[in-house]
Amino acid sequence: MYRNTKNVPFYILGKGSFAQLGDLVDARRAAVAGPAVFFVDHFFRGRELEGRLPKKDGDLVLFVDTTNEPTTEQIDDFAAATRAHDNRLPCTVVAIGGGATLDVGKAVANMLTNPGQAADYQGWDLVKNPAPHKIGVPTLSGTGAECSRTCVLLNAKRGIKLGMNSDITMYDQLLLDPELTRTVPRDQYFYTGMDTYMHCIESLRGSYRNVIVDALAQKAVDMCEEIFLSDDMMAEENLEKMMIASYLGGMSAGNVGVIHPISAGLSVVLHTHHGIANCYALSVLGEFYPEDYPKYARMIERQGVNLPKGLCANLSDDQLKALVASSVVHEKPLTNALGPDFRKILTDEKVISLFKAM
Ligand code: NAD
Ligand code: ZN
Repeated sequence: MYRNTKNVPFYILGKGSFAQLGDLVDARRAAVAGPAVFFVDHFFRGRELEGRLPKKDGDLVLFVDTTNEPTTEQIDDFAAATRAHDNRLPCTVVAIGGGATLDVGKAVANMLTNPGQAADYQGWDLVKNPAPHKIGVPTLSGTGAECSRTCVLLNAKRGIKLGMNSDITMYDQLLLDPELTRTVPRDQYFYTGMDTYMHCIESLRGSYRNVIVDALAQKAVDMCEEIFLSDDMMAEENLEKMMIASYLGGMSAGNVGVIHPISAGLSVVLHTHHGIANCYALSVLGEFYPEDYPKYARMIERQGVNLPKGLCANLSDDQLKALVASSVVHEKPLTNALGPDFRKILTDEKVISLFKAM
């Protein structure tokens, strides 16, 4: 069976394009009676961008605390707050922020038209009813969350980090304004930008491949290398290049390899954020990525980014066991990278030694 692949149908790209958000929202107001609901990363509370939100009477603005990565409980709370505000469906859900906030917008929208709790929809193609219209506005480039078909959520009860993988989860419209990323702290810009690089090298070095995905991934990798090997990854032209690389990388997303499972272990057990967790993972996976690791090492050095050593130096045996379990559980990507016998390579001892080397 061949896969029927969906892309985000509309996008606006360009410096200053945030000014057009009002037009996009107005078109939705004309089409549907409900309010516009804005999910905005808490960084922007009280800043200039808050004043530029095209909100009208009856709309709802909810700030997303991204200190920690989104949880299923947080989604249920946001969905309840949205319903309590107005019992009609929103004319559009607008999410403005990094991967975490973009994922919150997607997940809450799914919960407005599907019964039960967010945790019920973690998995593949479990979302049944179409969600309200959604507009994604990234303010941090790299995750590809703006155009992927998932929204990744931590689920404390099940001890997992898993998305609502579904075509319904995807945005209907993107507004890509590189200006919005200017205020991102430098280390964060690197960690998240490198998420694109990781998705794409994992895809390119894996065994599940197709020509379109390879072309997108290769282009995104080339762009990341241009950005992170330049003098200043945050130079004006690089902000736009990074936003495009994230978009291309997001479209090619799907089949990751060894980096993301190891990174997921760190996020589940130690609550390490996704971007930096990926960097820790690749920093010890040189043997699996012999072509890419040296480039990564040059890029992080060139940009003067910090990755403090000793992340897993003082962990208990139970924590190490949990790290192994929450990494090797990702069978599909590990099979993509290492074949069905990946546990012969990634034995418990081997995985523990990787974590200890971080
Ligand atoms: P993030 O959204 O967690 O934000 C990181 C930090 O950057 C936060 O403190 C935030 O306040 C700040 N920030 C964001 N934009 C800013 C700006 N313009 N100026 C200043 N500060 C800003 O980071 P991220 O790396 O973009 O996203 C990580 C999340 O994305 C994780 O939850 C991960 O699971 C998820 N993710 C999703 C997908 C997907 O396909 N859906 C793919 C990869 C990762
Ligand atoms: Zn990722």
